[in-house]
Amino acid sequence: MTAVKQLCVISGKGGTGKTTVAASLAALAPAPAALADCDVDASNLPLILGACGRSRRPFEAGLVAWIDPQRCTGCQRCIELCRFDAIVCEGSGCQVDTLRCEGCKVCSIFCSPEAIVMRPVECGEIFVSETVHGPLTHARLRPGRENSGKLVSAVRDEALIQARSRDAPIILIDGSPGIGCPVIATLSGVDLALLVTEPTPSGTQGLDRVLRVAEHFGVPAVACVNRSDLCAERVTEIESLCESRGVPLLGRIPFDRSVVEAMVALRPAVGSASEAVQTELRSLAEAVFDRLLDGH
Ligand code: SF4
Ligand code: SF4
Repeated sequence: MTAVKQLCVISGKGGTGKTTVAASLAALAPAPAALADCDVDASNLPLILGACGRSRRPFEAGLVAWIDPQRCTGCQRCIELCRFDAIVCEGSGCQVDTLRCEGCKVCSIFCSPEAIVMRPVECGEIFVSETVHGPLTHARLRPGRENSGKLVSAVRDEALIQARSRDAPIILIDGSPGIGCPVIATLSGVDLALLVTEPTPSGTQGLDRVLRVAEHFGVPAVACVNRSDLCAERVTEIESLCESRGVPLLGRIPFDRSVVEAMVALRPAVGSASEAVQTELRSLAEAVFDRLLDGH
């Protein structure tokens, strides 16, 4: 079986151009790749890569209470016990507000007639689509639903199945911004993390935060600066931060309107943006994939 190397592209904050970079890396991968979009709250890699022909399956995680009207006596004991005010008893009987229910099971344990059943809750959907750069696994978390970290793990599991079934030695993951559960689930067990930042105060802070997370989980990291020509002072700050933490800064992608135009046209920057941007992206991709596949 082909050994699979996993690369994730993440950023400590939104708006740094993470997905722009990820889409171009997908187009520049030196070997077949399985792709995964782990930004389950706002998946947009499928749009940029023109994903089509998707299969879908529901994603269930956690439990919510359901009251069997045939068994419920209307005693209202469950209302007293529910700390989340998730149960309402009115004329037609008792019902659970599934958005408020935390699945703690207290009501079901103390309901004498055993009228309350805990049911799995459908939190979202997982899709497998085709793109010209390889199969893309992505997902949609339903509004108000939790378990985004579990959904990310499920997307990664499916991407691994896709990689193995197609003999693809690379999994390329577009992560979500920030440092929360979805990012931790994205980082866990990958071989390399590419941290995308920008030359702004929040860009530097975001890089520092996400780098701490990568360090905590022992994931090797490299970095790149997007829109690098917008503030030389901030780029110097980012260079110092990377040097002090032993993180190779592998790319400096200049700002160019052609990148915005490529995004608006739903195309990867590689193949669409100015030559200066494409040259930087190719150089970045070569350096990143060399490290991923050769381990240095
Ligand atoms: S505790 Fe059980 S029987 Fe009583 S109101 Fe709640 S669901 Fe109905
Ligand atoms: S499972 Fe917990 S949160 Fe949900 S309705 Fe019952 S007591 Fe309330």
